[in-house]
Amino acid sequence: MADAARVLVIDDEVAICELIEAVAESAGFSAHSASTPADIERAVEGRFDLVVLDLSLGEVDGIEVMSRLGARHRGMPVILVSGADQSLLDTAGRIAEMHKLRVIGTFAKPFSLDVLRTAMLEWSQVSDQAHDPTGPRVVVGPDELLDSEFLHLVYQPKVSTVSGEVTGVEALVRWRHPTHGDVSPSVFVALIEEAGRTSELLDSVMAMASRDRLRYRALKSMPDVSVNISVLDLDDEELPRRAQRMLTEAAPADAWTFEVTETAPFTDAAPALSILTRLRLAGFRLAVDDFGTGTSNYERVLAAPFTELKIDRAMVGRLDIHASEPDPMVRSGVEVGHSLGLHVVAEGVETPDQFRMVRDIGCDAAQGYLISPPVAPVQIDAALDEWRRKFEFLG
Ligand code: C2E
Ligand code: MG
Ligand code: MG
Repeated sequence: MADAARVLVIDDEVAICELIEAVAESAGFSAHSASTPADIERAVEGRFDLVVLDLSLGEVDGIEVMSRLGARHRGMPVILVSGADQSLLDTAGRIAEMHKLRVIGTFAKPFSLDVLRTAMLEWSQVSDQAHDPTGPRVVVGPDELLDSEFLHLVYQPKVSTVSGEVTGVEALVRWRHPTHGDVSPSVFVALIEEAGRTSELLDSVMAMASRDRLRYRALKSMPDVSVNISVLDLDDEELPRRAQRMLTEAAPADAWTFEVTETAPFTDAAPALSILTRLRLAGFRLAVDDFGTGTSNYERVLAAPFTELKIDRAMVGRLDIHASEPDPMVRSGVEVGHSLGLHVVAEGVETPDQFRMVRDIGCDAAQGYLISPPVAPVQIDAALDEWRRKFEFLG
């Protein structure tokens, strides 16, 4: 049997280190930890397959540790934990990515150990270094990740903040592990991007979305279905033609939206702009995904022919019901969007208060767990019925 994957735990509190080590070991990994500055310095030079890093390390600066980790172990998977709030953690996650680390999850303390264990296990399912405690080494490379037998789509509704009615659904890809269940793309899309094979993923996603739309009543009558594309797909000259061929057999182009995600930096803007323009000329709609995070900026939105602006859930999470003024970042995002004639959608709406706040700030639509989690095509109607009941009481 192959060696167990090694987890390095970095936290200034010894008790927390021990707890996390125990969680890692119970999930079948080998674990060791470092708490003092000297230990951390030494540990970072060593060998390991996954790091759990506490950002607020007392004497040591977690951000600095990230930079050393990245310089020494490019692409190293990390799980970030912190006593700081989630939006700060999200920012730290982006910094980690700048240092070429691969962020598997970010957890604000107190978090449940079960959630941490699940994140480690999900990582091990798709990682080629990982060890399966129940049997032989699991090796999952891009070929398996792209195997259509394991891929399927779930759909998450977007609803009007005014009428509550559905305006469309977002298709989100899942990779189904034979024994461990659904794995989210935040774990595996980075591996596919690294292998330079995003266009194959996009083709599978377009084929599945098109087939689902022909097959399921809820999707046939849906005004809009959006699919996510990686910015890496935006130098693929063939994309507009393939999209037309694959999608318009199921629904007209203006009933499809492409969401441009920025998991990879927007490097070569010129071909990207020409491909976005060609998609738009073909009639497809275009959304800026995760707006308000480090990499998306006003310049891009002004330059390309977008039709929709999706405010990132980290910004929505920052809205505070007790604040006398709405968060200026969110408000200016909505203003920019509207001044360009874009449909503005708030992502990650989890509570009735957040729904009311994004509506009052002027977001046209909302998406998030309050409305519905991503569901299978056959569950869309039931999810929307449940949402309508909730909406009646929202006021
Ligand atoms: P995204 O496009 O911003 O999608 C929204 C993500 O937020 C989804 O995660 C969704 O499950 C999650 N989410 C929705 N509502 C809430 C909420 O109320 N609270 C919280 N905390 N989360 C919520 P998921 O499905 O894990 O997808 C993660 C990211 O992976 C997506 O972010 C998107 O960038 C990417 N992705 C998903 N499907 C595809 C795909 O087919 N192709 C590519 N290239 N990327 C994809
Ligand atoms: Mg999206
Ligand atoms: Mg998003």
